[in-house]
Amino acid sequence: MPQVRKSRQRDAILCNLQNRCDHPTAMELYLSVREEIPNLSLGTMYRNLNTLCESGQILRLSDGGEEHYDATAHSHAHLKCTRCGRFYDLPDLNDALEALPRNSAYAGEIYGCNLIFFGVCANCHRQTEQNI
Ligand SMILES: [Zn+2]
Ligand SMILES: [Zn+2]
Repeated sequence: MPQVRKSRQRDAILCNLQNRCDHPTAMELYLSVREEIPNLSLGTMYRNLNTLCESGQILRLSDGGEEHYDATAHSHAHLKCTRCGRFYDLPDLNDALEALPRNSAYAGEIYGCNLIFFGVCANCHRQTEQNI
């Protein structure tokens, strides 16, 4: 039954993403999931990523460049490294982030945020220091 096969692929994609914290691109995720499901097509991959984003199970991160994916779907802050281009979580900012909407006088309702800071990640920062 095609319906069953489809959701099995979606589960494998979600599971793969949940077991990593490196915010992979669709292509990185695709190559990894294909080790498990060799006949997975890139089109199916993108379709499933869209479904998972729409249902709020995963986040899509983009600063206008390549899109990255994240299985941590609640509001959290990211650092985008301007050297290696990767996204990193900034978990010590989560409390401040949750408090932030309460300080807004906006008359609507705020559900969450997708905040991206820019800077240099710890790995790249270490390499700079070693090269001096
Ligand atoms: Zn970096
Ligand atoms: Zn994240």
